[in-house]
This record gives sequence, C-alpha cells and structure tokens, in this order.
Amino acid sequence: MHVLVVEDEQHLAEGLRFNLEAEGFDVTVRENGEDALADFEGKRSGYDLLVLDVMLPGIDGFEVIRRLREARHFLPTLMLTARSRPDDVVKGIAAGADDYLAKPFDLGVLIARIKGLIRRRVWMGASEPAEQIRINGRLIDFKTLEIEVDGERQPLTLMEVNLLKYLIEHEGEAVSRADLLDKVWQVQSDTDTRAIDNFIVRLRKYIETDPAHPECLLTVRGVGYRLNRG
Ligand code: CA
Repeated sequence: MHVLVVEDEQHLAEGLRFNLEAEGFDVTVRENGEDALADFEGKRSGYDLLVLDVMLPGIDGFEVIRRLREARHFLPTLMLTARSRPDDVVKGIAAGADDYLAKPFDLGVLIARIKGLIRRRVWMGASEPAEQIRINGRLIDFKTLEIEVDGERQPLTLMEVNLLKYLIEHEGEAVSRADLLDKVWQVQSDTDTRAIDNFIVRLRKYIETDPAHPECLLTVRGVGYRLNRG
C-alpha cells in the first residue's frame, strides 16, 4: 500500500510519514498540489490512497481532488480540514473526497481512518448482497465501484456509490438534503447545502440521458431529491 501525503507543514508531514511507515505503508510526501498532480500525469501513479490537506500553497486541496476526479483518478482520499469550518467538509466531499479529518487530529485516529477507508473499499467489493443495479439502463457495479454507460465502465468514488445506495434504498421517496448530509456524508451542521447540489449534478451526468432534464434523479422543490430508477 502506497500512500501519498500532500501537506505543506513539514513537521506534520514528517509525523505522518513516520507513523504510516511504522504501520507498514510506503509513503510519498508532496508539499503542494501541483507537485502531487504531476505524479498522476500521463500514467498510473501507483498510489493506493491519498491524504490531502485543504490549505496548501498554490492550488488548494479542493482543487486537487476536483482535478484528480475529473481526470478519472479514483483512489480513496482522506481530506484534512480545519475544525472550525464545517463547510470545508461538505466542499471536500462534494469535490470528491471519501472521508475527512479535522485538524488538529490524533495520529492514531488518522491511522484508524485510513485503515477504515481501505476496509470499506475491500468490504464494498466483497459483501454486497445486490452486486449490480440498473438505473436508467446504466449498470452500477457495487463490487468494482463502477458504472457502465454505453458499454464503457467508469469508476465511481465511495461517496458517489454511498449516495446512490442511499437513494436506491429510499427509491420513490423524497430525501432531504439534511438527510443526505447526515446519513451519507455523516456531517452534522447547518451548512450550506449547495455542495450537495453540485454533487447531484455530477451524478446526473452519469445516470441521466439528458442531465439538464433529469428523469431519474429528480429535484423535489423545497425538500431535496427523489430517485426513480426508470
Ligand atoms: Ca497546510
């Protein structure tokens, strides 16, 4: 397992390296987002997991994860956010992060969260009872975390899969944005829900025939969303 740590605070980066290596991980540290992104250019990076700080010199962590997901790099990603800014959590997840940890954090907690992310990835692949589900003719494969559109498979993030699962479990019901924040993203805050809307826009690109006129992932005015598998 090779972990990429993107963190500009040197003492913290070295602390992460020391502790992760003690757990048997290979660790590479990059001090800014541009250098981290360069590792992914034109080839598979070889990284299995990303620990990404939000506050970086140059482009920030949100932009790094957004660009990685846009370039179809789907490695599990833990974002390091500032404790006092719950909106950062939502923004990070909306941009494509799988989990988050608020600074300052205990290194033991960080290791546990990283192992949790790896386990969830494995668990998702291993024990899903309904392994494949169709939405609007698109095949969602919970085993491989992929969606197949017109015969072409694309990877999904854990959060995208979690959100789809939640909507499928509540098919035909209006699901509120607050519920999605609470149950899927496990964020409790009176935070701005526009980040969820951006996330939904991304999902619609996968599952809708015409994302501008959704027929599956419907907006319920004043409430949230409703899934109709078609
Ligand atoms: Ca920083």
